[in-house]
Amino acid sequence: MTRARRHASALAEPIDPRLRACDQPGCVGEGLFRAPKARDRLTDYFWFCLEHVRAYNAAWDYYRGMSSHEIERQVRNDTVWQRPSWPFSANGKRVRADDVVFEDPFEVFGENAPGPKPDSRLRELPPEEREALAILDLPPEVTLEELKTRYKILVKRHHPDANGGDRQAEERLKAINRAYSTLRKRLAA
Ligand SMILES: [Zn+2]
Repeated sequence: MTRARRHASALAEPIDPRLRACDQPGCVGEGLFRAPKARDRLTDYFWFCLEHVRAYNAAWDYYRGMSSHEIERQVRNDTVWQRPSWPFSANGKRVRADDVVFEDPFEVFGENAPGPKPDSRLRELPPEEREALAILDLPPEVTLEELKTRYKILVKRHHPDANGGDRQAEERLKAINRAYSTLRKRLAA
């Protein structure tokens, strides 16, 4: 079943094209965070909720040597991952559509972005930096200035005050803060 169809059957209403479901089967979270599909396909992404982008990054070494097809099958079949006991599915609450689309005024992150594409550097990064990049949806070659710009946008968007004190927003903000401090330390070094 495609993501679009899963959405359609769950909502029985037209799909907002800006909404993206988590690629983990059975997950009702929004695909807010991206992760490359394979070592040889670093510009082709899964989109996961926070829990599942973490699980995917944690399993990254497990996928070493697998073809992208094998990895995709593993993810879709849910044979590798622990199913997390996470809060998102409890109330089935959905993330607002405008939460999903990140602003990108400089077009540095999009598919048509100029400059270097994600490359083998991503393979060599420590897991916590890879996870941080995924959470902030940044390429490995991000600059300190770009990092700060992105962080400001995400903090504004995910701040609990802007989300009615939503617990999910609080969790996302914590993860964003951690990711930011991890990357800032590396880029400022
Ligand atoms: Zn998920």
